Amino acid sequence: MFNFLALGSNISPRIGIVLKCIDSLKKSFPKSFKASSLYETAPYQNSKQKPYINCCVQLKTELSAHDLLKHVLQLESTLGRVRTGKKWDNRTIDIDIILFGEQIIQTVDLTVPHYDLSNRDFFIIPLLELHPELINPRSGQTLKKELSLLPLQLKTFPKIVQ
Ligand code: ATP
Ligand code: CA
Ligand code: CA
Repeated sequence: MFNFLALGSNISPRIGIVLKCIDSLKKSFPKSFKASSLYETAPYQNSKQKPYINCCVQLKTELSAHDLLKHVLQLESTLGRVRTGKKWDNRTIDIDIILFGEQIIQTVDLTVPHYDLSNRDFFIIPLLELHPELINPRSGQTLKKELSLLPLQLKTFPKIVQ
């Protein structure tokens, strides 16, 4: 059972922070670990924000989804994320759990698959790079199909992660 996280940073040094985050996740979850290319994307929802570097990673873990959430929130703090209380504010690092196997989780502090997965090309494109046959367990649709329904905005960033 694979799990997928999305990483995003729009505060300098964006690439360095994302690479550091990938490195830390790989150390904590070495089994079947894979990282996608990095992509540069326009800010979503709040156009006053700066552009992002985004990517996704695949990992396996014995942790529950809630314990994985605790781990990633802790890692965000370690990497210097300060929560301002504003929705969609600039951030050194954002780590979202996009898929946890095929589980559907709906609790106060955790929604999986990510509630907005079907609308975000900056999640779907890196996910498909890692696993082209992925299905969104909430909609039952392939992510390929969901991507085909979206306007494409993603700017490809050179692949710098092996
Ligand atoms: P968005 O969720 O629209 O991408 P965001 O990532 O900026 O916005 P945050 O402020 O980073 O939102 O997260 C707020 C809370 O969302 C987290 O503290 C966490 O409890 C909750 N949350 C719910 N589902 C998830 C998930 N799948 N992955 C990460 N956090 C989640
Ligand atoms: Ca997010
Ligand atoms: Ca988040």
